[in-house]
Amino acid sequence: MVMGDVTTGTDVLVIGGGPGGYVAAIRAAQRDLDVTLVEKDAYGGTCLNHGCIPSKALINAADVAHEAAHAEGMGIHADPAVDAAALTDWKDDVVDQLTGGVEKLCKANGVTLIEGTAAFSGEHTARIAHGGDGQGMESVEFEHAIVATGSRPIEVPNFPFAEDAVWSSRDALGTETVPDRLVVVGAGYIGMELSTTFAKLGADVTVVEMLDDVLPIYDDDVTRVVRSRANELGIDFSFGEGARDLRETDDGDGDGDGDGIEIVTETEDGEESVYGADRVLVAVGREPVTDTLELDAAGLEPDENGFLKTDAQGQTDLDHVFAVGDVAGDPMLAHAASHEGIVAAETIAGEPAALDAQAIPSAVFTDPEIGTVGLTEAEADAEGFDPVVGEMPLRASGRALTMDETDGFVRIVADEPSGYVLGGQVVAPEASELIAEIGLAIEMGATLEDVATTVHTHPTLSEAVMEAAENAMGQAIHTLNR
Ligand SMILES: Cc1cc2nc3c(=O)[nH]c(=O)nc-3n(C[C@H](O)[C@H](O)[C@H](O)COP(=O)(O)OP(=O)(O)OC[C@H]3O[C@@H](n4cnc5c(N)ncnc54)[C@H](O)[C@@H]3O)c2cc1C
Repeated sequence: MVMGDVTTGTDVLVIGGGPGGYVAAIRAAQRDLDVTLVEKDAYGGTCLNHGCIPSKALINAADVAHEAAHAEGMGIHADPAVDAAALTDWKDDVVDQLTGGVEKLCKANGVTLIEGTAAFSGEHTARIAHGGDGQGMESVEFEHAIVATGSRPIEVPNFPFAEDAVWSSRDALGTETVPDRLVVVGAGYIGMELSTTFAKLGADVTVVEMLDDVLPIYDDDVTRVVRSRANELGIDFSFGEGARDLRETDDGDGDGDGDGIEIVTETEDGEESVYGADRVLVAVGREPVTDTLELDAAGLEPDENGFLKTDAQGQTDLDHVFAVGDVAGDPMLAHAASHEGIVAAETIAGEPAALDAQAIPSAVFTDPEIGTVGLTEAEADAEGFDPVVGEMPLRASGRALTMDETDGFVRIVADEPSGYVLGGQVVAPEASELIAEIGLAIEMGATLEDVATTVHTHPTLSEAVMEAAENAMGQAIHTLNR
């Protein structure tokens, strides 16, 4: 059946139902605006379906298996078997619960949901193509639009994702098999999280990275802990090499079994290396999804990398069009997308709202995890503060010892004259949780003394945040003061 080409009107058209779009839609509806949300694939976007949630489910499952197999020091001997199909079912169930929840929440808040692909057809109109043959089009007239179309993985020449042997992060998270040999191209956060996961699930992992270290945006003493733990897991690193070619190999028996691939890499000086594998995961970054939006019909132009430029309210060059989440550039993180969505929705509702970008935390779910927020010592210095730094190594934490997890540290950065907390870097189990306390301290304008005199539960990892603040004040009890 071909549906007629109907036109409807709405106060706010949200394009994309990821953590940027659905949160913006709900907040706008909570402000009594008439809201229409268009999603072409699955509610919850990359984060819930192919990113944060499935990756953290797999990471957690891999941790359970790995920890059980390596607890001899605690007197525990186990040899866990991983049923990859059952693990996939469990992970998919987690995803389904959350995506179903997003759809229900949107509806409960009165958001009109349309399944289809939206593109601008004018300054205040969009056309929506419904999925499937002959499902037709519809038009929506809007007062305001919020573009929240997210990002997709960048392809490397000669490594097309269409090939079975070449995985994007989405393919890796959707697989029901653990390859014997996995080559990962790219040692950014997605590459490192998935390398660690597949190594713990039993794959023989090699990471190929063009730069000379893992996780290039973090300081050396942060990445050193993660890299050395990855080495202990058996992950091999080849730095200074770029992936150049992919070749299929044949074991010669004609049955296709045991055949594999070879990844050819090259250094800047043209030196070649070859790595045999069963799969190659390409994780070299993500690019914004703006090319399918017919932006020029609305009068919008993306920057040279395809991102939409926005101000602190998420407003683009056009007063009535906002952009939030990955499509608006760094930080390309789910919680940033959601906060940007809230700010855009509240601005459209006429409220004074803006994003305080200094306190957006980020986490890498490696082993151990990394959590950072605010400024490093060098950044604080560059911004004209007089920074003081306090640290608590995990080996001095009673809780870390009870967990048998003593690699890492908690570091807090503050402005010495005023004591205001400016930032923190944490490398520890649950660093993704611990960093929230330092983020709150920054947001509240708390001082080192506030953090140091807050009574923390014993024995917990969070005591290390308190101790780091004490250390910065020269008053630590369990570590030597600097
Ligand atoms: C493997 C992986 C792990 C990650 N882990 C984390 C993590 O631990 N923590 C974290 O903060 N971030 C993580 N991220 C990043 C996070 O997923 C993104 O930052 C976040 O999803 C961005 O949200 P968004 O709303 O901008 O876009 P998306 O989540 O990408 O959503 C965009 C939505 O728009 C839809 N869409 C696109 N074009 C159209 C159109 N024309 N019409 C209709 N709909 C359209 C898409 O189908 C999609 O559903 C991870 C990403 C990956 C890939």
